[in-house]
Amino acid sequence: QKALVWLRRDLRLYDHAALHHALKNSQQVWLTFIFDIDILEPLRTDNIKNQALSHDRRVDFIWQGLQQIDEALRKQGGGLIVQVGKPTECIPKIACELGVDCVYTNHDYEPSAISRDAAVQASLNKLNIHFESFKDQVIFEKKEILTNSNTVFSVFTPYKNNWLKTLQEKHIASYDCTPKKGQFAAIPKSLQSPLPSLESMGFCSTGIEAYLPPGSEGGQQFLEDFLHRIDQYQIGRDFPAIKGVSYLSTHLRFGMLSIRGLVREGHRRMLAGSMGATIWLSELIWRDFYFMILANHPRLSSGVAFKPDYDQIQWESGATAKKLFSAWCEGKTGYPLVDAAMHQLNQSGYMHNRLRMVVASFLTKDLGVDWRWGEAYFAKHLNDFELSSNNGGWQWASSSGCDAQPYFRIFNPITQSEKFDSEGKFIRRYLPQLEKLSKKSIHAPWEAGHIELEAASILLGRDYPLPIVNHDEARKKTLVRYSVVKKVN
Ligand code: FAD
Repeated sequence: QKALVWLRRDLRLYDHAALHHALKNSQQVWLTFIFDIDILEPLRTDNIKNQALSHDRRVDFIWQGLQQIDEALRKQGGGLIVQVGKPTECIPKIACELGVDCVYTNHDYEPSAISRDAAVQASLNKLNIHFESFKDQVIFEKKEILTNSNTVFSVFTPYKNNWLKTLQEKHIASYDCTPKKGQFAAIPKSLQSPLPSLESMGFCSTGIEAYLPPGSEGGQQFLEDFLHRIDQYQIGRDFPAIKGVSYLSTHLRFGMLSIRGLVREGHRRMLAGSMGATIWLSELIWRDFYFMILANHPRLSSGVAFKPDYDQIQWESGATAKKLFSAWCEGKTGYPLVDAAMHQLNQSGYMHNRLRMVVASFLTKDLGVDWRWGEAYFAKHLNDFELSSNNGGWQWASSSGCDAQPYFRIFNPITQSEKFDSEGKFIRRYLPQLEKLSKKSIHAPWEAGHIELEAASILLGRDYPLPIVNHDEARKKTLVRYSVVKKVN
């Protein structure tokens, strides 16, 4: 038996469901990754006009992860087959050329990926090649966790309780991926080619490795660092200026770390009484929850509100909306915590969870801009962009989602700033022009007196924007805007 393992968002060689089954069932195993032009193309469109290379940290991060896998496979006599093209064409071709009996892969829950996989499977079956797909990126999928009346959950806490009750050792056991000698087969000449360079695909290096070491090696390094801090997670996780969270989301997104491994670490410590690990595990369950929601409500990928009533809301439109949105994107709203958060995203591709909630609330409930615009901006810029969690997070913030916050609970960007960045340390890191403001004034510079502003060499409107909206007025406007929603949660 010969097998091909098709890697997608599971870029590792350990504890990997598809790889485990391929190794178990076959004498010879090859691995492949396809840079899907249908995914790359929209990422390049901005730059095509200027003929310049596109800057996308994710493509770079994936590319570096693939390099690690290729190296590891070469050491064992194999290598990674990497092509640029359409998987529906490349996978059957490669499978034929290798003469494999089966293509192994792991489930993907995004509607576009599901139809792609169905098309690949149909082509393979016509060639008498089997297609096997496995659960790998979540602990429980689709309808594995149901309510007592056998329906899908739409509220997180009871889902989490049931998830924890259902969890057994077998759900988080590691898949053995140790090859026998020679099982990773050499790549035949006709398929041998070096890893396509980023430039050949229209992308440039982004320098992401300087702060986010790629691959399983990088993920492991971050995990070990976090495990020293995990017991304090519940204390530090809401404060963006301190190293309180794990920063593992991007490695998880691309499967450079196994979710089973992370849950094992969290669960074991939870049973030993660690409050930090308990809360962290709960965050990993949120991730499963949103995957489950997307799998059961695929319509969410087409931009509709989870609660249909919320699609009646009239958002700001025309030039006003565009102006407000640009100020938000560029971190020029005049609200320091919001602006610093947007600078963090624009500069690094990461944004702290507390800040994602603050800026999403600000866009929808202070600026009255459609949550879908924010969702799309995050999708373009987040290194860890995940359709399920991103959609879930945005719909949570705009109150249109499952188990979302009630629409009348509106974050106050100033009190959020005072509470979660009380010294203004995070703000100062991203808005150095506000460096000299006191810890009282830094949250709302327009409230600082002339003397303080002058001493800090700040002229509002020149060195830092005046607030583009008044929060109290915006709040009132939002309550009116949301009043079209008939059913209150
Ligand atoms: P930690 O606090 O260390 O959490 C550990 C892991 O748990 C994360 O890596 C992530 O996989 C998962 N997790 C944590 N919080 C959530 C959550 N609320 N929902 C789902 N999973 C969670 N997360 C993404 O992975 N991709 C996204 O595109 C994304 N978009 C978001 C958009 C908005 C508007 C909001 C409010 C949240 C979004 N999140 C998203 C969730 C969360 O902000 C990030 O997962 C987290 O900030 C990543 O940092 P970390 O790895 O240090 O998290």
